[in-house]
Amino acid sequence: MMRVKRGMGALSAAVVAAALLPSVAGATTPPLVKAPVAQGYGGAVVSDTVQATQAGLDVLRRGGTAADAAVAVAATLGVTDPNMAGLGGGGYFVHYDAKTRKVSTIDGRETAPRSADANLFINPATGQPYPFADAVTSGLSVGTPGQLAIWERALDRWGRYDLADVLKPAIKVAEQGFPVTPQLRKEIEQNQPRFKQFTSTAKLYLPGGNPPAVGSTLRNPDLANTYREIARDGVDAFYGGKIGRDVANTVQHLPLAADVTVKPPVGKLSVEDLRRYRALDQAPTKVGYRNVEVYGMAPSSSGGTTVGESLNILETTKLGSLNRTQALHYYLEATKLAYADRGRYVGDPKFVTVPTRELLSDSFAAVRACRIDPIRATPAPVAPGNPLDPGQCTPPPPAATPTQENEVHTNHFVVADARGDVVSYTNTLEQVGGSGIVVPGRGFLLNNELTDFNFTPTQGTAPDPNLPAAGKRPRSSMSPTIVLKDGRPWLALGSPGGSTIITTALQIILNRVDFKQSLPDAVAAPRASQRNTPTVTAEPGFITANPGLATYGHKFTEQAEIGAAAALEFLGHDQILAVGEPVRRSGTSAGVAYPAK
Ligand code: GLU
Repeated sequence: MMRVKRGMGALSAAVVAAALLPSVAGATTPPLVKAPVAQGYGGAVVSDTVQATQAGLDVLRRGGTAADAAVAVAATLGVTDPNMAGLGGGGYFVHYDAKTRKVSTIDGRETAPRSADANLFINPATGQPYPFADAVTSGLSVGTPGQLAIWERALDRWGRYDLADVLKPAIKVAEQGFPVTPQLRKEIEQNQPRFKQFTSTAKLYLPGGNPPAVGSTLRNPDLANTYREIARDGVDAFYGGKIGRDVANTVQHLPLAADVTVKPPVGKLSVEDLRRYRALDQAPTKVGYRNVEVYGMAPSSSGGTTVGESLNILETTKLGSLNRTQALHYYLEATKLAYADRGRYVGDPKFVTVPTRELLSDSFAAVRACRIDPIRATPAPVAPGNPLDPGQCTPPPPAATPTQENEVHTNHFVVADARGDVVSYTNTLEQVGGSGIVVPGRGFLLNNELTDFNFTPTQGTAPDPNLPAAGKRPRSSMSPTIVLKDGRPWLALGSPGGSTIITTALQIILNRVDFKQSLPDAVAAPRASQRNTPTVTAEPGFITANPGLATYGHKFTEQAEIGAAAALEFLGHDQILAVGEPVRRSGTSAGVAYPAK
């Protein structure tokens, strides 16, 4: 099947684009200086790396749409943020169309291979689940990547340029190289023990057997060629063609080093799985909160339902009129409840019935809110409620089975264009470095997204919505969000951070809406994440700043950093405030197309 833009043949689409539009590659704009905050006009980008932000801004300055720029950013992140993003992963794309004034989403989550079943992560030799770490660095964890399908679909729906054109900035960076940052070196160093198990990964990321030095130039000519092949042959080169064959072959025959110390299980991902993969157009989730409307990602992500349910619960209390400690107590208690419901009800809606509407109903939220004790933290884990039959307001619930989820990283970025289109896009390989396996000769790491499935049932006697199955998408926490005020974009935001993504998105909204912080302050503020576990995961700054929470019974587990948010605020009169992280992830990169009108 040819995948082409708007029904045109690949050639005619490229010819028309080239005739109408200035070349993206020809852009010469001032080099961007890395900064966490920027303010200006004509569009904006916030991403993890300065090269990716620059790539997006170049496309915007050449008349590209937010969708065009978003693909350029994502493709460049595949080069400069390779442990978090790339062709080997997937994600969720939330889009506001200024013309139709509608929010739409694309679900590009990885799928389990057709050969998978509920026992995907059960070791046949022992009958027991594989240890989590063993499953991560293996062929078993690799899902069918959805990233490229998102790019195709986004350009098809909202792009002016075609894929070949918006890949050019990334090809240039991959070809010419970029300076290794302390952050990238740290990530590679942390992954060194597993990266060296694979010849292809060691060759790319452990030059001379070690992580590349900070400031040295890292080139990825294999990825430049892979992007060129996609530009020339279309996305079918990946979804069924030569690149796809290399992906499947890598998963089935791991490129193990001669002196390997482990023998990870192989996977069964096949070319046919790639050929059948589709990114899905999805209706967004939507909740009204105070005077704004919050749009998010519907299942297979739990982001939209869990952010939305938490907001609905919190809306029953006037947080702004409470002191900060009381308000934060409500915040922690609300997410505790919402995570219990997430665990019980959210999975891939093609495989399980997800009561999305009921989870987001005000009547369910009202009953859940009754479970919050205003002066005491309820011992976690708490049991889920029943959105289909919420029942009466009753006091705090009995405990349920604890679940553990890893908290690792991906990336989130945001883009806006001069027309008013907005993109909020979280994309991931799951762990930092994904499965640790680079496809030989192709220059990208494969995801380990399937470890987001539960390996064994977690819901006691109730069914678990997130067990593996053939073709199923593992439940995600990614929460790319767009907030409208008076029907117009006001905020766009999101973050990496595994299951803490939801609370980071929520905290930024609360900080901005209820606590009236500026967006830079709302993003920089210390974070805490209560995910229905006995202790609250929190940054040291949060614990120190809120000693009063201990008197409510909240107990904390320190985590140095939670998330790495990217956000935009639309200030009116075409002005945009672009906000990244000043400190987390070594600081991220915000930019605007033009500082002045
Ligand atoms: N795999 C995670 C999820 O979908 C995202 C990766 C991360 O940030 O840890 O929820």
